[in-house]
Amino acid sequence: MTVRVATLGFPRIGTRRELKTALEQYWAGNSSADDLLSTAASLRASAWQRQKDLGAEIIPSNDFSLYDHVLDTSAMVGAVPAIYGNVQDKVDLGTYFAMARGFQTTSEECGCGHAHGAPQDVPAAEMTKWFDTNYHYLVPQFTADQTFRLASTKAVEEYHEAKALGIETRPVLLGPVSFLLLGKCDGPAFDRLDLLPALLPVYERVLNALRAEGADWVQIDEPCLVLDLPGNAGAAFKTAYNTLTTTVPDLKLMLATYFGALGDNQGIALSLPVHGLHVDLVRAPEQLASILEKARPDLLLSLGVVDGRNIWKADLNALLDHLEPLARQRDLILAPSCSLLHTPIDLERETDLDADVKSWLAFAVQKIEELHTLGRALNEGRGAVQATLAENAAALRARRSSAKINDPTVQARSADRNPALAQRRSPFPARRPLQQSKLRLPLYPTTTIGSFPQTPEVRKARADHARGELSSEAYEAFLREETARTIRWQEEIDLEVLVHGEFERNDMVQYFGEQLSGFAFTKHAWVQSYGSRYVRPPIIFGDVSRPKAMTVEWWEYAQSITSRPMKGMLTGPVTILNWSFVRDDQPRSETCRQIAFAIRDEVCDLEKAGCGIIQIDEAALREGLPLRRADWQSYLDWAVESFRISASGVQDATQIHTHMCYSEFNDIIAAIGAMDADVISIETARSRMELLDAFAAYRYPAEIGPGVYDIHSPRVPSVEEMVELLRAASKAISPDALWVNPDCGLKTRKWPETKAALINMVAAAHYMRP
Ligand code: GLN
Ligand code: ZN
Repeated sequence: MTVRVATLGFPRIGTRRELKTALEQYWAGNSSADDLLSTAASLRASAWQRQKDLGAEIIPSNDFSLYDHVLDTSAMVGAVPAIYGNVQDKVDLGTYFAMARGFQTTSEECGCGHAHGAPQDVPAAEMTKWFDTNYHYLVPQFTADQTFRLASTKAVEEYHEAKALGIETRPVLLGPVSFLLLGKCDGPAFDRLDLLPALLPVYERVLNALRAEGADWVQIDEPCLVLDLPGNAGAAFKTAYNTLTTTVPDLKLMLATYFGALGDNQGIALSLPVHGLHVDLVRAPEQLASILEKARPDLLLSLGVVDGRNIWKADLNALLDHLEPLARQRDLILAPSCSLLHTPIDLERETDLDADVKSWLAFAVQKIEELHTLGRALNEGRGAVQATLAENAAALRARRSSAKINDPTVQARSADRNPALAQRRSPFPARRPLQQSKLRLPLYPTTTIGSFPQTPEVRKARADHARGELSSEAYEAFLREETARTIRWQEEIDLEVLVHGEFERNDMVQYFGEQLSGFAFTKHAWVQSYGSRYVRPPIIFGDVSRPKAMTVEWWEYAQSITSRPMKGMLTGPVTILNWSFVRDDQPRSETCRQIAFAIRDEVCDLEKAGCGIIQIDEAALREGLPLRRADWQSYLDWAVESFRISASGVQDATQIHTHMCYSEFNDIIAAIGAMDADVISIETARSRMELLDAFAAYRYPAEIGPGVYDIHSPRVPSVEEMVELLRAASKAISPDALWVNPDCGLKTRKWPETKAALINMVAAAHYMRP
């Protein structure tokens, strides 16, 4: 029996972020479409060649995208909403980027690492997270009478392009059912799956064209098969794949599923008349047994055995123990669990990384090498790759016992915790009067979420300091100056609860990670977040502790120059966890709890220094929700416990705030309540306060700052507008529980609009007061 190695997708961005540069040059009008497209072509060519050289035998094409592969699919099938014009012919670059980014202004983002469509003359299509990754796709939008037509032949062109370079590829398409399920209805809701019959002919044309060009296999991704599906989805999958396999008979389809177990959809997946099935055995190793038992003998299985979502070396010897008996019985394909889009490209570029930590890691390139090793061991026997296997075993052994990972004090603190640690001394109703009499705030107290504009000067000073061109003393002095000016200004416009502005922070997670033990940072390990925005997540490799206070000095300085209350500003444990590459040798919940204890220490030190209001941001709590609803509660349980551990070391009179920059709370409102914060600030401006109904219906017990303006846009809301929102809010929530604030940090805004908006916001709060 033979084993072959495949990849399902490779990072598009280039080892030196060439795609970002090319896109931004093009958008700025500094380069032509030809320049952009030729950079894109050379990135594809080198990705194909690289994968081939690394030993991948089945190499994808059409995994590349100028912006996003879901947007590419919308373009392919001509699903272009009317606001982008009446596109009759092919979707051209202008239309494509208009859907991606809107016309006119550049896209906006806050610190949360995900995009919020910026309001422009023609807005960008909505963007949302791709399953539980930090990649964001452009949401397809369908009308009830949606028609489809072939409007982009990218898949065919890229197959052809690879072939011309002498590389046979397996083109990748996002499958029709997932494409529909990932989209949304424009106008009144209807069943998107009803559009399937209209959609399938376009897929048929593309598959036929690929076949005509010489493709043998096509990888067709249906990741929605790992989700809770609507009742009619099974029928839709059957219709889709019966149709596609009959109408394009001599093309073989590899149906790819990833990000979890097929679970209750396994029966559907196995009943489809496709030629191959890819399953994720990293997230869901347990599903292999029943798939083997139930799969047709002639179904070619592609096993996702190397983690496409994380950066750790695989345990090659353990994998071989499992795979050897299997490989004796059937042909197999070995692959990463999912596209390598979600991992950085090449570990070798990290020349400054701690040598031990580096020896435990594998990025996209190294993962293909691992698969190649596994493939050879299975085809030729372990002896053929003995040295590599021994090296892998040694690295894993060293990792397990490394003192850099294991900190007995941290482990004991977590293991010996008692429930009281996650409990404030008294319940909220008892804490509240103590906080009120200490803080003496008016009704509708005003505050902001933490950051103030990170101007080009602030960024430049940080970069100069990082390069050693600005001394630490000069940099500190500059930051103090910015901080002081920002505090003066907040006093001047009469905000009640002040912030220091976060000028010293590069990023809300990195700033803390850099000061905690157990974290490593890379120089080049970029991963696409959306379009040309890439992030470099910290790597949590060991037990987490806080060697010394992280924010107290800045807080003390800020408080020393004002008599108004100065908030202490921290990032919460769940957010730090969710925006990092997390160790795979212990449960996420354990890592989260360790971070929680570190943040708890900081909270207590802030209180000791005299800080009476401490905000612990949990911007990423919701996005950590598991894909399947049945798994939500256990995640929420440990996430909430971690937050509470971080927040519960303080006196009753100390007010704990939290902030979340999103508005979908309805289904997790009980968990939000269970966090037991004294004040929560949330995003509501864009939903016109609708969300408050959920808080009212749930009888949310504490105080709420519903964001009264949308910081993702430069637009300055009027006083009247914010008064109206506050009036709406005060109908749902008791006025004495309402705070007045923007809906997120202001770091991506410019000063003029920030000033104008906050002045109006304060006026609106004053207007509301009796
Ligand atoms: N305190 C952070 C800030 O204001 C919060 C950012 C966020 O929620 N994304 O920037
Ligand atoms: Zn926010």
